[in-house]
This record gives sequence, C-alpha cells and structure tokens, in this order.
Amino acid sequence: MPKIFERLDHKKDKDIRVLGNFISIFCREKHRGQARSIFPIKDARLRHSLGNKDLVLCRDCGKLLSHGIAKLLICPYDPKPMCKKCETHCYAQGYREKIRKIMRFSSLYLIKHGRLDLMVHYLF
Ligand SMILES: [Zn+2]
Repeated sequence: MPKIFERLDHKKDKDIRVLGNFISIFCREKHRGQARSIFPIKDARLRHSLGNKDLVLCRDCGKLLSHGIAKLLICPYDPKPMCKKCETHCYAQGYREKIRKIMRFSSLYLIKHGRLDLMVHYLF
C-alpha cells in the first residue's frame, strides 16, 4: 500500500506524530502488564512521521494506531480539520471512545510532566 503514503503532507505528518506519541504514552502508563512489542513500520515516510523512533505498544494500542493512521491518510478533507472538530465520525465503533480517552489521559500526563512542547494540539 505505498500509494496511500503519498497522501502524507505537513499537517498529517504532525497529526500522525501526535497520535503515535499519545498512544505510546497511554500504553506505557496503562498497559505495563501486557505483552508489548515494537509497532511495525514498513514505510520510511511513515517512520519519519512517527518521529523516527520505535513505538512499543500492546496489541490493542497497535491496532488503534494503525486504524488512526489509516483514517488520517484517507481523510477526504483538504485541509484536514482537527478531528475533534470534524463532523464526520470516521473511526470505527469503539475506537473513537478509546482514542478520546487516550487523548485526555496523555494530554494531562504531558501537562503534569511539563512537556507542553510535545502536545502541539490535541486531536480528539
Ligand atoms: Zn496498550
């Protein structure tokens, strides 16, 4: 599916980075007890979007991140609006609730740890 990555632009790049960061913070803090492994990234552009680092995620969080990346890439809006302001609920049933919970948790986590620089904006 290399074609899909041609849809990466600066904005989506940033959103994917936030998505990856936020999900990995949540997984690290909340899913410590679960089997976690490196999130597989085959595409170099996607790896770059995710900050050129390995994300260690549990299976569920890995699935959620794949889902989120796919939805971002196929977003029909140009420019893409902030997801939390968007009227199209493109996430599958259950994923939207999960991602909102993660966004809330991780943004609070970053605030508490003084890492507002990583927060850019929050998506959901
Ligand atoms: Zn997890």
